Order: sequence, then structure tokens, then C-alpha cells
Amino acid sequence: MKTFDIPVKYKSPVISVIKETRRTKDKLKRNFKPTVLEFERLTILIARHFGFCYGVENAVEIAYRTLNENRGRRVFLLSEMIHNPDVNADLLSEGVQFLMDTRGNRLIDFETLNSEDIVIVPAFGTTLEIQAELSSRGIDPYRYDTTCPFVEKVWNRANQIGERGYTVVVHGKPNHEETRATFSHSTSQANTVVIKDIREARELAAFIRKEKPKEEFYRRFEGRYSEGFDPEEHLVKLGVVNQTTMLASETQEIANYLKEELVNLYGLDESSVSQHFASTKDTLCYATNDNQDATYALMDEDADLAIVVGGYNSSNTTHLVELLEQKIPTYFIKSAAGILSEREIIHYDIHQGKEVISGDYLPESSRPKIILTCGASCPDAVVEEVLARLLELFQEKKNLEDVLEKSLVNF
Ligand code: SF4
Repeated sequence: MKTFDIPVKYKSPVISVIKETRRTKDKLKRNFKPTVLEFERLTILIARHFGFCYGVENAVEIAYRTLNENRGRRVFLLSEMIHNPDVNADLLSEGVQFLMDTRGNRLIDFETLNSEDIVIVPAFGTTLEIQAELSSRGIDPYRYDTTCPFVEKVWNRANQIGERGYTVVVHGKPNHEETRATFSHSTSQANTVVIKDIREARELAAFIRKEKPKEEFYRRFEGRYSEGFDPEEHLVKLGVVNQTTMLASETQEIANYLKEELVNLYGLDESSVSQHFASTKDTLCYATNDNQDATYALMDEDADLAIVVGGYNSSNTTHLVELLEQKIPTYFIKSAAGILSEREIIHYDIHQGKEVISGDYLPESSRPKIILTCGASCPDAVVEEVLARLLELFQEKKNLEDVLEKSLVNF
């Protein structure tokens, strides 16, 4: 895979050795078992796949190159580059300004932009409406476009479905930048509706079966359907695409469920199902798949707790937390600073939607097993800092390099 020129501050010699060794010894990515670091006072299980993905490295490289090539000019990002607080703070400190927040609220009036300004489109992509607005101000929206190719793939898939007359059901978080962009691109070719989970798929099914009046559809899915959408007409032939970072199992459940509804409603069989349901594989990206598969492998381990590192608004990281916490106590931290002491940890509670402090998070066991992983937007350097913090907390005597060498020999 292509390599990118990213700032050295995001790299970690320790994590690089682990990743490179695992990659070399498992080129076909068949072994999802974690890397086990056996220290004297604790064991750390590091996920097989985690950290910066293709799209993030591509975006970071373009952003820094753009800054270096345009000193003295105003450089804007449409919104957060990626969902990582360190990376975004670094870019702000380099003089980059954000035009919008992650929900699309304007932080800077677009009226103030002119053709001399540089606007970087983040990895999530953007809407056709924003592209048109930038163009109208003399700014080429494709000049500094870091939209991930895996996101563009979703747009293409939505268009293909639309061209064949299917309505596109987008499984995604309605306010997420990527889903807003996908919705916009999809609506240019297809009738489109966004649902966020299986519960909403079930609600949608009541309109597919025409059990509820369409006025209720407009109320329930307000702001999430394309212009001119008529639920009586446009919920007859469906295809599903998803935000690239959703939970694979949930997208599959939604697609199976909607297909089943249509099969029952129209009395379809294998040969006729395509008349009402476009068979699409999920549109998750490779990084989401790898990270989720590696997380399932972590769940098979007999660990005491898990630490997941990443930006609190990172969709793919949140899903790793959702998986792990089904099995073991899981703490979602944004950096090593969250590990306050052996007694307290500051972490994000995804159910309460806020940061909390938990006490006594370390187990009583004399030599705990701790899982360590992160999402696709977290620099390796941050993961290494968390590892170092844990070793410091346990006053570990064994040398990290020795443990690493011994561990990696086994792969
Ligand atoms: S998570 Fe996937 S879609 Fe998103 S930037 Fe990374 S590779 Fe691209």
C-alpha cells in the first residue's frame, strides 16, 4: 500500500516495529490475534490492527504539504481534518482555520472567502452544495481535496444503485460529516433516506408496508430524505450503503431485515428479489473492517480491562468501544493524560455522552491483562504514550525493547 509523508511527531518507533513485523509475517492479514507484551507486573495485548488508515495519512500529508507550499496565504479546513483532538490542535497552531464545526455550523462567514484563499476538504468529503458555494467564490473545491477514496467509493455505489431505480438507504450517523456528504452526493442521482440504526430500520419498515401515513414519515425522518421523497412511491425498491465507519454487523442486520420485509411484502423468491432489493455488500472501508475484526479477536482474550484511545467524536473508535464493553470493562480515553493514577481514569462514557472519572479501574489481580487499541484517526505516538504511562504506573522493571523482541519472535 502507498506510504505517506506524515509528521514525525505522529509516529512511534515502538508501534512501527510491532506493525511492520506483524505486516511482514502476515501479509494476507489472516492472523487477527493481538500482540502480547508480557511484562513482569502486567500483560499488554495490542490489537492486530489499529491507528492511522490510508485516508487519514493521505489527508494529513496533503494538509501539511498545502501549509508548507502556501506560507503567507490564508488556509482553511472545511471542518475538523479527522476526529482526533491532537491532529486538529496541531493544524490550528500552524495557522489553519476551521470554516465549520463537525455538525456543519458555520464558524466563519463564507462571504469573507475569496479566490486567494485555500480551502482543504477533509477526509470525510463534503456536500455538493458546499462545493458549489466554494466555486462561486472562485475557490476550486477539488484543488486541495483530501476526500478518502473509500468514501468516494460509497458515493459511486449509491449512484449505481440510483441509476438502476433503487432508493438508497444510507446507514450512517445523520449529523456526521461523511454521512451528510454521502447524502448530498446520493440525492443527485437517487431518492435517498438516512437511518442511524436497526431501530430506525424497523420504523422505516412500517412505511414500506404502508402501515403509517406519509405525514408521519416526513415528521420522523425530517431532514433525512431527499427532496420530493414520497414514501408511498419510493420505498418499493431499495439498496443499502453505509458510512464507512459503522458497525459491520449492524449494517448487515439492517440490509437483511429490509430485504426480508420486501420479500414478505411482495412474495419474492431468489430469482425475483432483485426487483425490489439491490444486493450490495456493505461499503465499510478496509480499515474499519480490519479494526473491527481485530477487536473481535481481542474479545476472545481473557483480559481484565480494555483501553481504547481516540477522539471522543470518532465514529470508528466509538464502535470499537461498543464491541469491547460487551465483554470487559472498557475505558475510552483521548490521551495518556486520561490515566490519572492507579486509582482514577478520565474517560468518555458513550452512553452518557460525556467525560467521567472512574475509580478503582485496575483489577485486584496481581498481574493484570490490559487490552490496548485505538481508532483509525489516532496517531501511533499517542498509543505509545499510553503504553509508557501504564508501564510507569506499574513501575515496570522489564525493558520494553526486550519484551518487544521476545514477543515478536513468536509471530
Ligand atoms: S476510516 Fe476508512 S473511509 Fe475513513 S478515512 Fe480511513 S480509510 Fe478512509
